[in-house]
Parts: sequence; structure tokens; C-alpha cells
Amino acid sequence: MKEVRTRFAPSPTGFQHLGGFRTAFFAWLFAKHHGGKFVLRIEDTDCERTVPGAVRFILEELAWFGIFPDEGPSLSELKAIGEYWDGAPDFHGPYGPYVQSQRLARYKEVAEELIAKGFAYRCDCTPEMLERERNEQMARRELPGYSGYCRDRKVSADVPHVVRFKMPQHRSISLTDAVRGNVTWNSLSLKDTVILKSDGFPMYHLAVVVDDHDMKISHILRGIEWLPSAPIHVLLYEALGWEPPVFAHFPVINGPDGKKLSKRSGAATSRDAREKGFLPEAVLNFVSLIGWAPGEGCEQEIFSREELVSRFSLEGINQASGIFDMTKMEWMNGLYIRKLPVDDFIKRATPFLEAAGIHIPHDKFAQLAPHVQERTKLLTEIAPMVDFLSDKPLHRDMAAMFQKGMDPGKAREVLQRSHSALSNLPDFSVTAISDALRAVATELGLKPGSAFVVLRVAVTGKTITPPLFESFAVLGKEKVLVRISEALDALGSNNTATQH
Ligand code: GLU
Repeated sequence: MKEVRTRFAPSPTGFQHLGGFRTAFFAWLFAKHHGGKFVLRIEDTDCERTVPGAVRFILEELAWFGIFPDEGPSLSELKAIGEYWDGAPDFHGPYGPYVQSQRLARYKEVAEELIAKGFAYRCDCTPEMLERERNEQMARRELPGYSGYCRDRKVSADVPHVVRFKMPQHRSISLTDAVRGNVTWNSLSLKDTVILKSDGFPMYHLAVVVDDHDMKISHILRGIEWLPSAPIHVLLYEALGWEPPVFAHFPVINGPDGKKLSKRSGAATSRDAREKGFLPEAVLNFVSLIGWAPGEGCEQEIFSREELVSRFSLEGINQASGIFDMTKMEWMNGLYIRKLPVDDFIKRATPFLEAAGIHIPHDKFAQLAPHVQERTKLLTEIAPMVDFLSDKPLHRDMAAMFQKGMDPGKAREVLQRSHSALSNLPDFSVTAISDALRAVATELGLKPGSAFVVLRVAVTGKTITPPLFESFAVLGKEKVLVRISEALDALGSNNTATQH
């Protein structure tokens, strides 16, 4: 097989959600599996829909996933489109520019070649004429589309015009898609589409074919929504005498409601996922398994990047649409978090603590980190679990103390006795704390669980925290005792209200 070269060719018309990045993952996995090249190309020919910042977003997110294109836009190309920032990557490659708005001369050249060979023609129909034609077609219940009025008019290159591709009449066009098998269209359904606009910008069909050819793309991996464009691409390859790449169109991703993935159905962008506390390796793993399976009956769900690369194949892509399930992605993220070496966990947790305004001495957080790690599905869950270690004033949910028959009187007793038991401890170790507090529960004839809820709320403010004795030991005797006293005060003045 000749060198495998795939591409990710986003249009910067918005901020890609995870479904968009799946296209990048598949193209990257396939290229890497075959020891080939993964190319990033920015398809920015639809100037009106271009969103500033969308290119930067794509580059930053790919980097977050650890995906670095082998070829892509250089710094000067990024500068030329105003998508430059400190730290922007500087990709290169032999077939640049990799930004379509900087390749206009090449599209014009190919359009001229098509005209010269009789496969395309200039058209100077005005928008009003096209509109009238369209209305008449609709009235006759015909498929709307350009009639071919200018086909033989030999419109001069000196008047404002577009270039249209001359669709062959009455023929079938076939394509062997690596995912869908043989697909055939009848050219009757295709109209003479514009390939070059009057302002010199190409339309998608021309630009994509020229670039995939010029950039020596061997395999086009893209979403099924591009399949209807494929016959036009096949005809363009044919007209230009170029060998078409292998096409692989994969199905869409639906939300759990069965509807096409949208923001409402939980389609996060990778930025949302990052801010929520997902790990890039977990997202990469999870999203790569939507619509692709590593083998018939394979139950394994956790794959390292290397495993994904070594197992990826076009045969594993499903025909049926995939489902994006945020809850399952959270579950997988939890698995990834638990597998991290604890130092790495601390490193990844730190920016989330900072973002939440929680300042905890490093050694204190490090002591508790293994317990926190066990309980974390998303990195954003860490701050509320450990904020009791910071110097911020505690907000106690006092009402949460009174579970399973616990009442303010008993709670007071638990707190008073615990206070004296703990203040007598010479050594504030986890075992000593555990023995002392268990003894308090026994003396009061309480189940340890219900006594511990009271203590947990008193000292940490809430009911869900890392394990109690470890939390107390890390917080330190002095603070634990102060907080128990504060909770006693709160109980005295108001038995059930939330204290602020
Ligand atoms: N530029 C198209 C997009 O925004 C990609 C089309 C293709 O892959 O051929 O998704």
C-alpha cells in the first residue's frame, strides 16, 4: 500500500463538539496504525460563516488530546488569518499552505483547466434570474437547481461570473465506500453546481478535491453527512484524471434520546469536558469507541492510545449510528482517574483547586489525595470534597446531621463526648481517632454510622468527604476541636437550621 495519509479538514464555522473531534481521532488513528501521516487542513472558504477563534480552538483542543498533526498550518499561515497567539503551533509540510483561503490561485488554475477541457463553464446569471428559475421549477414541482442556461453561451472571462461544473447527463456514479460498500447515484439528481464563486473563492467541492489530491491524501475518513457530496467529488476526480482516494463515511453520533447529537443532548465540546474535569485520555478512549469496535465480541473498554492505534481498522466502523452517553463517559473518566499515579492525580487536581479558590498546603492535600482519588469521577468534584482543609469559613449543613433517628440532643452529646475524647489524645493518628470515636458511639449506644454523620457535618460541613478519621488526622487536632465547638454553638442557638 502506498503511504497512508489522512486528513482532518474542519471548517472554522463554530466550535467543534466531541463528535467533530471523533472524525479527527479516526483519521489520526488510521494514519498512525499504518505508520502514515495525519494532516490538518483548515477549510475556511465560507467567509461569512467563519467564526473568529474557531481555528485556535481546534488547535488547542487537538493539543489537549495529545494529537499533533504531522502536517498543518504554519505560524505565518495562522497569522494571515488572524488566528495567532503566543504559543501557537508551527506546523509544516511539503504541500502547504494548509489553510484554504491561502490557496485561491490553485483553485482558479484547476477551474480554468476544467473549463478548457469542457467539464466546466462560466456562468453570469444574476441572482434574480436564478431566483426566477427556481420559482418556476418549484411551480412545476421539479427538483430545483440550475438549468444549465450558460452551458453553451461561452460567457467571457471579463464579466463577473461563477464557474459551474457540467454534470454529465444520465449516468450512474459509483463509489466503493470502505464502510458502506458500493454506493451508486444517478447523475440526473445532480445539477450544475458552482465550483468557483465570482469573488475567486472556491466552493467546498472543488477545494476539497484539489486539496485532497495535492496533499496526496490516500484515505478520506469523514462523517456520513458528506456522503451526498461524494458523487460530485468522484466526477471531479474523473474529469481531472486524478486517482480518487479511498472514501470511508462513518455514521453520525446520536444522543441517548436517539436524536442527532446537539448541545442540548449533552454534546459537550472538548473544552466543556476539560472544564468539567475529564481527562483527555479518557475522552479520547471513550469517543473513539462510539461507532467503532475493536473486534467482534470484544468486551474490553479501556484502551491506551497505543492500543487504540494498534487495533484501529476501517472494518471495525459500524454502519449504525453510535450513541453518546455522558454518564458512561463520566464512569470511564472515574476509572482513568483511579488508575493515575497519585503524584499525577495531584498535579491534575491542582488547577481545579485553584480555579475553585481552594488553597490547601501541598502536604495536607497529598496525604488525603489517595482517598480523594478513589472517590473522584470528575476533577471538578475534588474541591468540594477537600475544601474543609482550607482556611475558608465553613458552611455547615446542620440539618444533614439528623439522619436515622438522630436528634439535636443526641448530636450535642456526640459532639461533647467526642471533643473531650479527642482532646485527650496524645497522638492524633488515624487509629487513635478511630478508637476514640468508636468508643464514644458505643458509650452512647449509637450506631457508629449515625454518630459519625454528626461529626462529619460538624468538622467538614457536609456528609460526603474522604474517610472521616483520615480527614480529621490531616486537618489536625486543633482545628477539629475548634470546629466541634463551633458546631456545638450552632446547635445551641438553632437546632436544625443551616449555619452560615
Ligand atoms: N470542511 C468539512 C467540515 O467542516 C469537512 C469535509 C470533508 O471532510 O470532506 O466538516
